[in-house]
Amino acid sequence: MATDPVCGMTVDEKKAVAKAEHQGKTYYFCSAHCHNAFTAAPAKYAKAGSATGPQHSGGGTLHHG
Ligand SMILES: [Zn+2]
Repeated sequence: MATDPVCGMTVDEKKAVAKAEHQGKTYYFCSAHCHNAFTAAPAKYAKAGSATGPQHSGGGTLHHG
């Protein structure tokens, strides 16, 4: 199984509606819509690493009286 980089859905390579190659890697898509979105901006979706690590968001503001 592969993961649609656009919507994050799990896609069966054999049943994938569309696929695209980017930097030597093949990506599979659940729909032509996702395929179009990917081909329009592959760098946006083909980010290295599919693992979702802990994200630190915010925390830049200090409360000072
Ligand atoms: Zn999709």
